[in-house]
Amino acid sequence: MDMKRIRKQLSPSKHTDPGNVDLSRVSERKSGLNMIRLLGILVACLMVLPILVTVFAYRDPPLNHIRGFAEGRSFQEKTEKDRIHEVIDGGSFEEKSDKGSEDDFSQQAEVLKDKLLGGLLAAGFDESSCLSRYQSILYRKASTHIPSSDLLDRLRRHEDLHKQCGPNTELYNKTLEQLKSGHNIGTMDCKYVVWISYSGLGNRILSLASAFLYALLTNRVLLIDRGTDMVDLFCEPFPEKSWLLPLDFPLHQFKSFDGKSHESYGNMLKNNILNDSMNDVSTGSLPAFAYLHLAHDYGDYDKMFFCSQDQLLLQRIPWLILRSDNYFVPSLFLIPTFEQELSILFPEKDTVFHHLGRYLFHPSNLVWGLITRFYQSYLANAEEKIGIQIRVFDTRTGPFEYVFDQILACVLNEKLLPKVIIQEPITPPVNRGRKVVLMTSLSSGYFEKIRNMYWEHPTVSGEIVSIYQPSHEEYQQTEKQMHNMKAWAEMYLLSLTDVLVTSSWSTFGYVAQGLGGIKPWILFKPENQTTPDPPCRRAMSMEPCFHSPPFYDCKAKKGIDTGALVPHVRHCEDMSWGLKLVGHDEW
Ligand code: GDP
Repeated sequence: MDMKRIRKQLSPSKHTDPGNVDLSRVSERKSGLNMIRLLGILVACLMVLPILVTVFAYRDPPLNHIRGFAEGRSFQEKTEKDRIHEVIDGGSFEEKSDKGSEDDFSQQAEVLKDKLLGGLLAAGFDESSCLSRYQSILYRKASTHIPSSDLLDRLRRHEDLHKQCGPNTELYNKTLEQLKSGHNIGTMDCKYVVWISYSGLGNRILSLASAFLYALLTNRVLLIDRGTDMVDLFCEPFPEKSWLLPLDFPLHQFKSFDGKSHESYGNMLKNNILNDSMNDVSTGSLPAFAYLHLAHDYGDYDKMFFCSQDQLLLQRIPWLILRSDNYFVPSLFLIPTFEQELSILFPEKDTVFHHLGRYLFHPSNLVWGLITRFYQSYLANAEEKIGIQIRVFDTRTGPFEYVFDQILACVLNEKLLPKVIIQEPITPPVNRGRKVVLMTSLSSGYFEKIRNMYWEHPTVSGEIVSIYQPSHEEYQQTEKQMHNMKAWAEMYLLSLTDVLVTSSWSTFGYVAQGLGGIKPWILFKPENQTTPDPPCRRAMSMEPCFHSPPFYDCKAKKGIDTGALVPHVRHCEDMSWGLKLVGHDEW
């Protein structure tokens, strides 16, 4: 409906004929009548408009422009979530920006930036094949940690490298020929790190993030062994070319490489097939590939990987096959070759896994379904979400009283949850806030006890405390497809909470805290089946702990405490010999 035309018809004419009064009167009467009719039409239109709006609003997407008009709310009036949904669901960004004002444009650009996590993610992926990639902002608070522009540039460059050298490209095939021939002819355009799928899911996520950072620093393409379930769990992180190692990869035995393999870099050093004075020898005398054994049981020779001289040598080997169950990033910060670049990429040193984890690990649609259904059912309406991750490293099956006492002591002492009044059946509500606790554990015992406690007794504060646990798988399993999907969904759900309590030594908890950008309360590891005192402490940083770091001074060729060399690499709170990155606030 053209509102201007109606206004024009309603306004009195300026050009009445003075000599023709009757006619003018007639015309006046007529125009009076017309005005009444037009007013009638206007009222009718106003009555019909909401009906039209409702009808059109529920029509299909080609009517988006009508919907935009009919909704009638300005962009500013819409809630943050409305706007995010609009950019995610409805039409392309470009199409919408044509129609909007400059303000709309900049706000939409802002939302698009959010959707790409401040530029961390590349645009242009097929959204339906991986819903979590661009929908994570609907569930997660925006990170307070901004990735550096150098990191963003580096990621975009790495994506280009992956497009050029990824599986089945001409350059990939060329480098593969070299691998098949067993000869290192040097001057190859593309070099690779092949990550072997190994160990529990938390360990895998951390070692994969470490392998990716190593690939980024050494301009190598990262390809991953799909193991039994990597494809079911994660989306592709790089545009256009897959990160999955092609099934016809010619090194068939690579999955059985271990610390004893002759092909390992450590054993090649030990057996003098390689040594660090070989930096001048021709590339032809170097192998076409080397296996890097960086798992918890690695030896002193394997640990030479963390020396600058050895990195110079490794640079000239096109294929590196890597097995690790560790987050070895902190020790990369101690290698002089990488030190400077790392401080440029990560000015906030305690955000490495936070950024790389959010960049790399997007739950597959199946896992996203588990996450979003649980979140919407139990977490969405909480005023505060508290995650409690219980991992007990004990060969006997729990639940154990001393662990339950520890959880309770931690959450009550630190005022994460309200106390209950045992004597009173009911108290008048003082503050009827709603706290929702997400518990994860292989056992249901701790969850049941805490839930019963808040059911059987009122809280001192009058707050309502709801406790939920998605699964209790009883023991770690390797064969069941759904088992690791649930584990991944639970790590992700924990990362969506506001406050986190985690268990010592657990990579499961590290993944949650890193993705969520949360400094957790760490439950100390109980000794002699006794509740530790204090039961927990606040972590220095959200970074994971490297459980088996090297303690070696490559220059002086002697042992050294690598946790006391620089202020940003320190021993972990939960493992005295482990290393972790910490931010400026802890220096
Ligand atoms: P970590 O052993 O605690 O460092 O963590 P990992 O994830 O590497 O390995 C433990 C494995 O046990 C997980 O991957 C799961 O398969 C299983 N698991 C341990 N705790 C939980 C839990 O709370 N929920 C679920 N669903 N699985 C768990």
